[in-house]
Amino acid sequence: MNTTKTLLSGIQPTGRMHLGNYFGAVQSWVTYQNDYNTFLFIADLHALTTKYMSPEGLRETKQSLLQDILACGVDPKKACVFFQSDVSMHAELHLLFSMMTPLPWLERVPTYKDKITAMQDHDLNTYGFLGYPLLQAADIALYQADVVPVGRDQLPHMELTREVIRRFNHLVQKPVFKEPEALLTSHDVLLGTDGRKMSKSYGNTIPMSDTPEQRSATVMSMVTDPNRIRKTDPGTPEVCPVFAYHRIFNTADRVSEIAAACRGAEIGCVACKRDCAAALNAHLAPIDERRLTWSSTDTLKDIAKDGAKRAILVAGESLAKAKKSLHL
Ligand code: SF4
Repeated sequence: MNTTKTLLSGIQPTGRMHLGNYFGAVQSWVTYQNDYNTFLFIADLHALTTKYMSPEGLRETKQSLLQDILACGVDPKKACVFFQSDVSMHAELHLLFSMMTPLPWLERVPTYKDKITAMQDHDLNTYGFLGYPLLQAADIALYQADVVPVGRDQLPHMELTREVIRRFNHLVQKPVFKEPEALLTSHDVLLGTDGRKMSKSYGNTIPMSDTPEQRSATVMSMVTDPNRIRKTDPGTPEVCPVFAYHRIFNTADRVSEIAAACRGAEIGCVACKRDCAAALNAHLAPIDERRLTWSSTDTLKDIAKDGAKRAILVAGESLAKAKKSLHL
């Protein structure tokens, strides 16, 4: 137990939570909440950087995301869970950071140009999109976070956050904000149903709130080893996304049996997928059950409100220090 250290993490409400989000982040939150002073937020302001033209449904998405997070086992009595826009300090500190951050620091963030190219159907030629790493820096700095769980691809953002905080502290000549460390996550990567990274933009996700029947139907439609046309063709499980799911959701013995049966052409892909869907649904059954206990909209609103109150106490203190140091 290391509750003297503070951990901060967030998730964007760009759609329903899917299995990739669960394995990539939320599953670990359930452990972190026991080990750290944990702040978890639903990053609705970040969502606006790409959804500003069509924000309809954002409120409902936030609420369903909160329900999923709680269903996954995050305990609002342990972790402080809140909506980012309910804590106005995030926007205010973002503004202060934007005053003193050299523009090239933002322009050189590797994901900036990549994302603009990848999301041609969105007009991302906005300050909000260019400045979103600064909003991230504000999110982290406000809670004086010691650690932030990140994947390897997000390390440049963390480095920028550290640079922004260093520059702020240097300019005001006071250690107002703590420099956070990256906590590198090393989860099983859960692929999408087509074998690519699971992502809403690829349309290859399995939403957490799907019913067991819907999940089974999705698994039955997954791509398999492309060279296995007939049941009599020996397969190569290592190239098959369904087998990757078996590895995560099935027992080690069953995984070995399936691998041997696939290589020996003793099992058909339909039967193999059925087995996979059953293992997946069994794994998610406790989450499905907990989701029902968090179905009251009023309860979810109260949890978010209570989380925001607790967050404001910490964020307000940090922001007050920052403003004082800037003679505001
Ligand atoms: S038998 Fe299973 S592991 Fe082998 S190719 Fe078919 S779905 Fe994939």
